[in-house]
Amino acid sequence: MNLTPTLQDCELLDLQDPLRSLRQQFDLPPGVIYLDGNSLGVLPKTVPARVAHAVTHEWGTDLIKSWNSAGWFNLPQRVGDKIARVIGAQPGEVIAADSTSINLFKVLAAALHIAKADHPHKTKIVSERSNFPTDLYIAEALCKERGYSLQLVEAEDLVAALQADVAVLMLTHVNYRTGAMHNMQAITAIAHAQGILTVWDLAHSAGAVPVDLKGSGADFAVGCGYKYLNGGPGAPAFVWVRPQHTDRFWQPLAGWWGHAAPFAFTPDYQPAQGITRYQCGTQPILSLTALDCGLDAFLAAEVLGGMAALRQKSLALTGLFMQLVRTRLHGHGFGIATPAEEALRGSQVSLTRTEGAYAIVQALIARGVIGDFRAGDGGQHPDILRFGFTPLYVGYADVWQAAEHLCQVMQSGEWQDARFAQKNAVT
Ligand SMILES: *Cc1c(COP(=O)(O)O)cnc(C)c1O
Repeated sequence: MNLTPTLQDCELLDLQDPLRSLRQQFDLPPGVIYLDGNSLGVLPKTVPARVAHAVTHEWGTDLIKSWNSAGWFNLPQRVGDKIARVIGAQPGEVIAADSTSINLFKVLAAALHIAKADHPHKTKIVSERSNFPTDLYIAEALCKERGYSLQLVEAEDLVAALQADVAVLMLTHVNYRTGAMHNMQAITAIAHAQGILTVWDLAHSAGAVPVDLKGSGADFAVGCGYKYLNGGPGAPAFVWVRPQHTDRFWQPLAGWWGHAAPFAFTPDYQPAQGITRYQCGTQPILSLTALDCGLDAFLAAEVLGGMAALRQKSLALTGLFMQLVRTRLHGHGFGIATPAEEALRGSQVSLTRTEGAYAIVQALIARGVIGDFRAGDGGQHPDILRFGFTPLYVGYADVWQAAEHLCQVMQSGEWQDARFAQKNAVT
């Protein structure tokens, strides 16, 4: 499309969209264009009844028997097997448990153990300065404890930083601020050539872009259940470890659910084989149940072309939004932080603006167009207006309408209304 697409063009694209039926699986509030599935995915329609059943029947009636009869005990493995299909892992290699922050601690600690055994002279963890803060905080804390140092670099300086003294490279595959995507396979190969282990955070990749953990050579991965996998607020996260590494070390949160025989109740710890040792203690069954529904809604795409088809649509949606911003919002002070090149971006578009980014997002939310704001650092990293395009339930006309609302917000100046400057605790 060379001309700026019209609403009619977009409605036609929706009619022709082979993935259109997937949207019916979700409870989207009327009058809302939801562009924040990269932060909290929407509610799958099956969740209320399924969770209600887990509460009233499995818990209320069957009580403790449900650990066996309802399969509560191995729900983390069963959900993990579904996640494995989304990220290019094998059944039995992924477990759904705990939070992304906690899982990152486990795998980073395990990676440092392996690095220490294989390359005792190595002293550093390298990451990206604009990585998600919790990832950096966990790495910083672990470095302090283990006597390593954390080196933070800009994306363009990453390869140069991969020197022989680096033990672990910890990266988020798709950057939460800009939506820029790393080439997991290429970077992992460069890291391995220097004897560096790689830890990948898939928070903005799992369910958003094709991920091939097995083919990429990656060593460890973690990711989030409540973003593109639609598991609900605080849904358990997941962890994957390359099978050759899983049994080499205990992860440090060696709780009873990671024990080889938890119900033997022995006083000493014997780690389970495989990914099960990456569990710690009792898991949140109601949240896991909701996440299981989210994955079923996601896996329904498999018969419609799966992740490849979702990726194609995602690129079309993000490309359309960027095109509309370039043509229709020219002169309103926006920059586009997300790479124009398809291979370099995830499933979100981030706009920059030197002032007013927060208020503009709030003005859009008041109109029912939900994106979010991420503060910059006043320097190299500007304030960001973030728009996530989840191909499972966002359509082309939604994208057009969102851009139209943004035009109206800017042309009318309504974003300058004092009520939109009021900062909430969660932005
Ligand atoms: C969303 C996100 C997290 C969230 O971590 P929690 O432990 O669930 O709070 C972590 N890392 C990245 C890169 C994220 O995008």
